[in-house]
Amino acid sequence: MKLTLLIFAGLTLLSSPLAFAQEKDTEPFKFIEIGEIPVFGKNVDKQTRCVHWHSDLDIIAIKFKCCDKYFPCFSCHEEEADHPHQVWPKSEFDQKAILCGVCGTELRIRDYMASDNTCPHCQSGFNPGCSNHYHLYFETLEVRPSPKGIK
Ligand SMILES: [Zn+2]
Ligand SMILES: [Zn+2]
Ligand SMILES: [Zn+2]
Repeated sequence: MKLTLLIFAGLTLLSSPLAFAQEKDTEPFKFIEIGEIPVFGKNVDKQTRCVHWHSDLDIIAIKFKCCDKYFPCFSCHEEEADHPHQVWPKSEFDQKAILCGVCGTELRIRDYMASDNTCPHCQSGFNPGCSNHYHLYFETLEVRPSPKGIK
């Protein structure tokens, strides 16, 4: 009788670490925090890279006007938010709506646009390709790629 109990206890002890090992840790975080600022969406790391954009340079999050929340990218907002997105009107380009995932600094929209794709605070490089998608986030400026930028 005693032996059976011992075996049972032994098995219980052995099985608990296994249960932990089976827990998935590959699920994208529901949201992450950069400093104290929550970033929603399908984040895959702690510098606001997401399942859609995750190169070395994809380190910024954008606050959406519609919900006043930061998301790593437009697709994250599309997939996670329950409402259509709104772009920032030109009159509000003084708002802080860009978050550097490396140093946690919030940039005003106009400062981000003038930043030459480099964080003014920590000098990390931002993805220059983001400027092709300004119209998804900001009221479109007549900023076109300069002729030398076109192949
Ligand atoms: Zn929104
Ligand atoms: Zn995304
Ligand atoms: Zn930075």
